[in-house]
Amino acid sequence: MEREHQLLAARFYGPGVLRVEEVDIPKIGRGELLIRNHVALTCGTDLKMYLRGHRLATPPLIIGHEFAGTVERVGEDVEGFEEGMRIVSANSAPCMSCYYCRIGKPNLCDHLDEVLIGFSSPGAYAEYVRLPTRIVKLNTYEIPKDVPFEAAAFVEPLACVVHGIELSNIRAGDLVFVIGAGPIGLMHVQLAKIRGAKTVVVADASPERLQRAAQLGADQLIASSDSAGQVKTLTENRGADITIEAVGKPETWELAVQATRKGGTTVLFGGCPAGSRASVDTGLVHYGELTLRGVFHHTPRDVREALRLISTAQINVAPLITHRMRLTEVEEALRLMQKGSAIKVAITP
Ligand SMILES: [Zn+2]
Ligand SMILES: [Zn+2]
Repeated sequence: MEREHQLLAARFYGPGVLRVEEVDIPKIGRGELLIRNHVALTCGTDLKMYLRGHRLATPPLIIGHEFAGTVERVGEDVEGFEEGMRIVSANSAPCMSCYYCRIGKPNLCDHLDEVLIGFSSPGAYAEYVRLPTRIVKLNTYEIPKDVPFEAAAFVEPLACVVHGIELSNIRAGDLVFVIGAGPIGLMHVQLAKIRGAKTVVVADASPERLQRAAQLGADQLIASSDSAGQVKTLTENRGADITIEAVGKPETWELAVQATRKGGTTVLFGGCPAGSRASVDTGLVHYGELTLRGVFHHTPRDVREALRLISTAQINVAPLITHRMRLTEVEEALRLMQKGSAIKVAITP
């Protein structure tokens, strides 16, 4: 087939196997948009997918789910979008009719998996991305004029952080302890401050990541393995008002519970490998009246708030991009993520 009908894409074939190859440009149907992708960001979830696969992924699958671009083609019955418009979308959209959507928890929608870009629908490490109808209707937005594509592409991960911070109930003056200074932890640091945290303490094993946390507003940095002990030292032995786990390992989930003060909230943000178990000291939770708060994904309202925070430059996402690479180098980009030497890599087609 001629090149003009084809696009370059990075397709996942199985754990550890990613091939950059030519595939057909997707045909779009009623209600859909074809996006010419300008940038895609690497994400820890893409790395997990690359290393061990994903329950929703049927190879060969184009992966990648954080992206921004321009409208290339508009499907029938699409309203509000035209060719050439700069847009960003979330990777999913709720069905708005299941039990969870009806009780106002669309992030828990039973049908979220059905159209999930980069998982059940072809993803963003590609020159073109097809936006399914439901996402076009509920979770696609025009990028304000002065916002670069690279910044706009942070809408999806930041929306998850907006959601987590909302459920953490931060109050003015709180001490917030963030475990993990990856992209998600670094966005939590900034948003916790905006929402009134007086002191943000960050723990991470990497001195470079801690340095970046300090640049983005962290007040105290902890590099030692006894970070719960250190947080207690900083709080007259009480512990953090709010602890946010942004790593996704059972040991850091346990640490998060230990580091939270009586009556405080432990936000368990990081997703652990499927089937993981963490144990908690029941006494700490019971006598300490701890609130253990699982958080997942985002709602369309969180996505809009994320775009607002980026557009008004309240959240500074630019320092989270540590590398820029071409689509042909996606595998190398994911390896940099694996080594911990990249926070986020901006991939351009
Ligand atoms: Zn992501
Ligand atoms: Zn639903």
